Amino acid sequence: MTGISADHLVMRFDRFTAVNDISFDVAPGEFVTLLGPSGCGKTTLLKMISGFLKPSSGRIFLGEEDVTDRPPEARDTALCFQSYALFPHLSVKENLEFGLKQKKIPRKDRSLRVGEVAEKLGLEPQLEKLPNQLSGGQQQRVSLGRALVMRPGVILFDEPLSNLDAKLRDQVRIEIRRIQQDFALTAIYVTHDQAEALALSDRIFVMNAGRVEQADTPEVLYRKPATRFVADFIGGANILPAKLKPRDGGKDRLIDTPAGIFSVSREAALPEGKICLCFRPETARLLSGPADDALSGTVVTRAFQGHFTDLIAETNGISYRIQARETALREGDTVYFTVAPEDVIILG
Ligand code: ATP
Repeated sequence: MTGISADHLVMRFDRFTAVNDISFDVAPGEFVTLLGPSGCGKTTLLKMISGFLKPSSGRIFLGEEDVTDRPPEARDTALCFQSYALFPHLSVKENLEFGLKQKKIPRKDRSLRVGEVAEKLGLEPQLEKLPNQLSGGQQQRVSLGRALVMRPGVILFDEPLSNLDAKLRDQVRIEIRRIQQDFALTAIYVTHDQAEALALSDRIFVMNAGRVEQADTPEVLYRKPATRFVADFIGGANILPAKLKPRDGGKDRLIDTPAGIFSVSREAALPEGKICLCFRPETARLLSGPADDALSGTVVTRAFQGHFTDLIAETNGISYRIQARETALREGDTVYFTVAPEDVIILG
């Protein structure tokens, strides 16, 4: 297994800086996702790791080796991307074998590797077919298989699921994680889909404008986002302008927002200067009516989602989202709720 290190990577295209001084370590066998909005530099970073782009400055290491000046074929990486890029005139078996032939791997070893990967991916019945005789999911699997037969230490994925419909995406997503574990691969996976990132990753690097804003486990990113951008991008937090109330009694601090007064634990670190308050839609606990400390708003829209109902509520011109397990509230009703101090996140 191979770890990956980046040391002050920068990529400039003319005067535009697409990747702006990124450093990280990925442990051997770790699954890391680069997550961020379109244009934040995810693909550029991946291309530098695979060797298709040479950084303007900075170094890349695979294991102990500095590979910055090496071409893609001399790196222990394999790339799997969305446009399956299968050869249309070659059978599945020939597609799987292609890279091995180029590397002059002997025939016996080639069939062994193709057989093993075809079995793991459930592609054995398709081996003699041409790519246009396969479904989208099967083509994606062949593309993944082509990367796996090379037995790379590191596998790189560039939005591999974006051509698949929602149901198939879920299925192939689970498969990708299983394969990564089975083959003990170090993986870097690019996506702008936060649900995909949360489900797959050991760690997520949340990227914004060429930088990594926060690198952490899905749980920490969700519960303790370090910036507004991360809070909003992962899980869609409600973000309200806020002020610390000077007079606060009891064990919690009081935070004033247009939606009412929230309590936050005294242990929570408060940033200097201007602050905002975040809470996740599912942490709001609905009350049956007014109460001390209750917050309240007017329900503006209601959307039944099966296992929960999404309410958009408004207070003093500020709107926010509440996820309710079960509720009879309708548009125009008043919603009363509380948010536990430990679920309140204060950011600068
Ligand atoms: P997406 O999710 O849309 O694929 P991304 O996060 O992968 O986006 P990149 O493809 O890495 O984004 O691009 C980052 C920025 O660098 C973009 O603004 C893009 O226009 C710019 N860029 C990428 N490649 C080049 C290039 N070869 N020449 C000039 N600018 C480029």
